[in-house]
Amino acid sequence: MSKPLVVITGASSGFGEVTARMLSEKGYPLLLVARRLDRMKALNLPNTICAQVDVTDREALVKAITDAEATYGPVDCIINNAGVMLLGLTHEQDPAEWKKMVDVNMLGVLNGIYAVLPSMRERKTGTIINISSVAGRKTFPNHAIYCGTKFAVHAMSENIREEVASDNVRVIVIAPGAAETELLSHTTSDVIKEGYTQWKKQIGGVMSAKDVANSIVFAYEQPQSVCIREIVLAPTSQE
Ligand code: NDP
Repeated sequence: MSKPLVVITGASSGFGEVTARMLSEKGYPLLLVARRLDRMKALNLPNTICAQVDVTDREALVKAITDAEATYGPVDCIINNAGVMLLGLTHEQDPAEWKKMVDVNMLGVLNGIYAVLPSMRERKTGTIINISSVAGRKTFPNHAIYCGTKFAVHAMSENIREEVASDNVRVIVIAPGAAETELLSHTTSDVIKEGYTQWKKQIGGVMSAKDVANSIVFAYEQPQSVCIREIVLAPTSQE
């Protein structure tokens, strides 16, 4: 039987890119969403639509999903993975950076949920996977706003999971610790970036994007009657 449509936001690099490759290899048709269209197209995956969409633009996200459904049928799973981490001290950081994290990490996730949930509830099936972080479970220096957005992902996901459990819709949170991707590169402070890079070395290295993608795919591929509510994974040497 042919596989159902999976939507992955933030598919142009890091976890999203590797998860896209893995699910594509397993035969899922995909809708990939991010701003860097060239990076998604370069993956050259079969049965895949790449949409240049900013997840903070709810209308554009809904349209991209509706268009993909016209080709591949209803979305069975959305992986709300797009995120930004702009580390800094709250009182020193440009407030535009707070807003960006709130907009992408919280509202972007909500926009993804908004785009698929009514149809999933009606069809009595579906899976929403939200990518949080260990920083959604504990705090770290220079992480106040990032942690705030990721704590919110846990809280919103758990609440929504309770609301839709009786509709046979799964809501899953994947909360990774440190992994090697482009995420840190967007932080504007070179001092903070250097400190983080040193810390990664001190703990003896971090996870790969594949380590995290494995957990996403594992959680998704459980039977629909089983909801792995949360996976927290981190490098063994990360405290
Ligand atoms: P990357 O920076 O490699 O990937 C982030 C992805 O999000 C990119 O594809 C980027 O695409 C996309 N993105 C960012 N802003 C937007 C936007 N406004 N609209 C659409 N897409 C957007 O980092 P990771 O793979 O590490 O990050 C993936 C998720 O994992 C994030 O939510 C992050 O917070 C989380 N995470 C990462 C950890 C790590 O150590 N790497 C640890 C814990 C959690 P583009 O720029 O093309 O739009």
